[in-house]
Amino acid sequence: MIDSSPGPRGLMKRLREVMAETLGAQDRLDKIVRHIAANMIAEVCSVYVLRSDDVLELFATEGLNPQSVHEASLMVGQGLVGSIAANAKTLNLDDAQNHPAFRYLPETGEEIYNSFLGVPILRSGRALGVLVVQNQAKRIYRDDEVEALETTAMVLAELIAAGELEGLDKQGRGLDSSRALNLTGAALADGIGLGHVILHEPRVVVTNLFNENAEYETKRLAEALGQLRISIDGMMNNGNVPRVGEHREVLEAYRMFANDRGWVRRMEEQIQNGLTAEAAVEKVQSDNRARMMRQSDPFLRERLNDFDDLAYRLLRELVGRPHGPLTDQMDSDYIVVARNMGAAELLDYSGPNLRGLALEEGAPTSHVVIVARALGIPVVGQLSNVVSLADSDNAVIVDGEEGLVFLRPSEEVESAYGEKVQFRAKRREVYKQLKDLPATSKDGVDVSLLMNAGLLMDLPNIIPSGAAGIGLFRTELQFMVSSRFPRIGEQEELYRSVLDASDGLPVTFRTLDIGGDKVLPYLRAEQEENPALGWRAIRLALDRPGLLRTQLRALLRAAGGRELKVMIPMVTETREIFRVKEIIEREVALLKKFKHQVPDKLLIGAMIEVPSLLFQMDDLLRAVDFVSVGSNDLFQFVMASDRGNARIAKRFDPLNRGFLRVLRKIVVAADAHQKPLTLCGEIAGKPLSALALLGLGYRSISMAAAAIGPVKAMLLETDIAKLQTSLLEEIEKPYGGQTIREFLTDHAASQGIPY
Ligand code: PEP
Ligand code: MG
Repeated sequence: MIDSSPGPRGLMKRLREVMAETLGAQDRLDKIVRHIAANMIAEVCSVYVLRSDDVLELFATEGLNPQSVHEASLMVGQGLVGSIAANAKTLNLDDAQNHPAFRYLPETGEEIYNSFLGVPILRSGRALGVLVVQNQAKRIYRDDEVEALETTAMVLAELIAAGELEGLDKQGRGLDSSRALNLTGAALADGIGLGHVILHEPRVVVTNLFNENAEYETKRLAEALGQLRISIDGMMNNGNVPRVGEHREVLEAYRMFANDRGWVRRMEEQIQNGLTAEAAVEKVQSDNRARMMRQSDPFLRERLNDFDDLAYRLLRELVGRPHGPLTDQMDSDYIVVARNMGAAELLDYSGPNLRGLALEEGAPTSHVVIVARALGIPVVGQLSNVVSLADSDNAVIVDGEEGLVFLRPSEEVESAYGEKVQFRAKRREVYKQLKDLPATSKDGVDVSLLMNAGLLMDLPNIIPSGAAGIGLFRTELQFMVSSRFPRIGEQEELYRSVLDASDGLPVTFRTLDIGGDKVLPYLRAEQEENPALGWRAIRLALDRPGLLRTQLRALLRAAGGRELKVMIPMVTETREIFRVKEIIEREVALLKKFKHQVPDKLLIGAMIEVPSLLFQMDDLLRAVDFVSVGSNDLFQFVMASDRGNARIAKRFDPLNRGFLRVLRKIVVAADAHQKPLTLCGEIAGKPLSALALLGLGYRSISMAAAAIGPVKAMLLETDIAKLQTSLLEEIEKPYGGQTIREFLTDHAASQGIPY
């Protein structure tokens, strides 16, 4: 007998009983629709489930023709039901038949039902189906009825996600959470990785939905909120955000949200409706996520993201799960999946079994990607919704060559990739054999292939990579992975190990390049409107001379009796170089006074990253011993194109004529002054763009260790003289912003140059 005791609590009670009964999934679903119809005094209650082919299939109904179950269906986006699934948004209509999206399904025997209430069945913000009630009488459903139906949809989400509904598996159908998905993103770091998913901020799946005692659950929620507020205050007060790297603004937003009465009230209401504290958090969060997905304003979207993160923290408080990576997940091959993350956060996951990184955001020159390259793992970015689509432990393949990610791959895909991995391993063997060959082009031009480094873990790669030295040592990475300023002794020790490991090969140390997107959680800095153009790198160092002095002292001591090359980042005017020189001279004098050994030879260089230098090349080149082009930043500033912004990452090609003319101008100036020139941005590490650099006249380039083999293979087959003449002509052709990529690929193909 169907109990129709009114109101959401009565319905929850019924649903709890149905879920506890030993029933098949279909029977359970049939029973649930009957209860809902009775409880809400609706003539119709139906459940549509989303299949892997984006079709919503009628899975159960009370009130429509029972023969149409498993027969009636709609595409996502089609009809009222399809648009609810597409937009993950509830529709509450008193005149459904005249709604523009209404679509009549004859097989259902649908009569004139004027009122229509449909809610998406959401799990982690994604629609698994749609739950509908209908009435003949014209009316708008009350807010408490909408709430009750949405809450019921959560129960259905669990039922569907359990994967026991027949007809899904049997007919080769699967749901989002189990079906294979091929996602296309941007190839950010080369390589192929196979493993299981580790979600950077793991989703907590709530399975215990119904409460026994609302008062007890309200108390649990209050306690967890209390803990959450304490932990946020703690993070704010010591200025240190373990493992999450969010800056102050985000924390402030978190604090504000954690005290938001509206949020708390909505969760309390859900408990009153019969949910556990966890389920109440999940329900409210699900609503928020659905809102977030519809939000196109990036600022508001970001704020809703913060809310989302906060809800997960609250869930973890409730289920007692710690933050950060769980080391037992790292025992076998794994791929980290994240919306975005800081460079230091990625290092939390580094280990022998880390196989790749998949990001919703990310751009080729963002620092997390640079660090991933240093770790030798493939990265695919700009994968929309990958965090929602992936579940912990799912099998996944990251193809950093093509920019593809295969979630829950089929056996065929997995075995094809297994072969690809073997093929690449063989190719690596070939590169290894090139290691001892001189880096000389086919027409006998020597080129210095250097490596970029920044961490202790890079050091074992120096010799095996066949690099001619370190062209860029990013000293800030040590600062970024530390929870406080590294002491002078620690800095000196790292610099000494770098020089030791390089075994006499040249090393160029870059002074601290912090600010911009390289955030130190312990360095309190004012919020800046445009951090990339703000208080960063040498600007910050000159304003905090204590920091720079300490670093220079550590470098001078570490290089006692050897050569020391120091390079200054983000130079804008030559005056900055003179100021650094003064500090260095003072430090050298001091060390001598105290009888410390000083470097045998000291060379000071500048990075060319800011366009203003292009108009003072003569002054600059007179002021330094060497220069190095930081093409990542130079490109960003020349093109006014944020290097970390996924949205514009593909908009301009670094191989466009305008930018290559800039790079050529630098070669001509450096040659005229006979000053050594290197280029150390990411374009040096791709064989095709490195080929362009050779043609432009670059004879020293610095790249990730793993890129040296492929770039050397390209160099050995290149006749530079032949390339140079035609390339210099090509870049001078009338400028329409066109890339010369095709010119280069044609040239490489016709000359048999591997790229
Ligand atoms: C650059 O800007 O090209 C560079 C090498 O420095 P970073 O990527 O560390 O800013
Ligand atoms: Mg830079």
